[in-house]
Amino acid sequence: MPTHTVLVTGGAGYIGSHACVELLNAGFKVIVVDNLSNSKSESLSRVQQLTGKTLSFYEADIRDKTALTQIFANEKPTTVIHFAGLKAVGESCAQPHLYYHNNVFGTLVLTEVMQEHNVKQLVFSSSATVYGVTELTQYHEELPLGAINPYGRSKAMVEDILRDLAEADIKNKCEYPWKIALLRYFNPIGAHESGLIGEDPNGIPNNLMPYVAQVAIGKLPQLSVFGDDYPTPDGTGIRDYIHVIDLVRGHIKAIDAFNTEKFSDGNCKAYNLGAGRGYSVLEIVNAFENVTGKKINYKISPRREGDLAEYFANPELALKELNWKVEKTLHDMVADTWNWQSKNPQGYK
Ligand code: NAD
Ligand code: UDP
Repeated sequence: MPTHTVLVTGGAGYIGSHACVELLNAGFKVIVVDNLSNSKSESLSRVQQLTGKTLSFYEADIRDKTALTQIFANEKPTTVIHFAGLKAVGESCAQPHLYYHNNVFGTLVLTEVMQEHNVKQLVFSSSATVYGVTELTQYHEELPLGAINPYGRSKAMVEDILRDLAEADIKNKCEYPWKIALLRYFNPIGAHESGLIGEDPNGIPNNLMPYVAQVAIGKLPQLSVFGDDYPTPDGTGIRDYIHVIDLVRGHIKAIDAFNTEKFSDGNCKAYNLGAGRGYSVLEIVNAFENVTGKKINYKISPRREGDLAEYFANPELALKELNWKVEKTLHDMVADTWNWQSKNPQGYK
């Protein structure tokens, strides 16, 4: 069987670097394109150290069509996993133009270059933030979309564009039609069990798990728990946390699915990648204390604007069609986060 070459945009980032490890271990040739706007190339050195395999790295922006065209011509990838994007909700509200330019225009340039090189297998990093506000707490793929901030809308817009591309090929009975998996992530946390790679946020983390980890290591004095008056059993917000390794394995399952009946005539399909159960903020704090033996100093603060009380995935479609489900436990997620944080208190610096 010929070696498949997978081009990974945003491969130096948190999820992308873990995907590179799994792809290399699964025997794929890996090409990374990243502008390092939110990452360091050290992550890729660690990926190679960890796997004993090499990958090719291009420091380039996906909006740079000339650079991308050259990379596609040189490397001849068969599939793209598209992680490159900006992801901070607050920043997207302050700088919407930046988010639409990077996430939407960037994807347009990427898919144009892919189409020009007849590379039409794409796995896209979408997000549970594309779902609209609903009474339901468990989200399935057929729920109406209705993102409530520019970041989420940039993901929803890209989903629309990708659905249109696939539909056009199906209508035209294209010989090599687009095969696209839109993977809607819930809350990725954790790190590779080696502790060599992990999440290295710039500045003060926005997300719960890296914040807790930095309180535990003494970098931050105290966690603010945003609200304890939600209609949940302990009053704190509930999310569906998913180990980053489980998450990236879902991408390889999606690539495998491109060879199945589901995608044989071309298709663009959305799949939730989540565990199908949620944990509250205080459950996460307690788990962290139990696993690490570290006391997490926290205070109850007002709710954070825009937060929902509770949501988690219905992951049945991914099980049925991708043969994927989470395997890691909350203990694994916490232990691996702590292993990475304690071995790399300053991240990749
Ligand atoms: P990350 O910031 O660690 O990784 C993204 C990578 O893309 C970074 O290395 C960054 O330098 C690169 N990048 C950004 N814009 C680029 C551009 N124009 N050209 C080239 N490279 C560019 O983020 P992550 O957590 O690994 O997220 C990966 C993807 O998953 C993103 O698209 C994000 O929106 C999506 N996602 C993340 C989460 C999460 O909680 N981490 C949840 C849902 C969806
Ligand atoms: N959260 C919190 N303190 C923090 C960061 C997050 O209490 O410093 C809560 C937040 O209100 C939500 C949960 O933790 O209920 C997960 O938040 P995160 O930002 O990690 O993910 P998202 O909001 O995107 O689901």
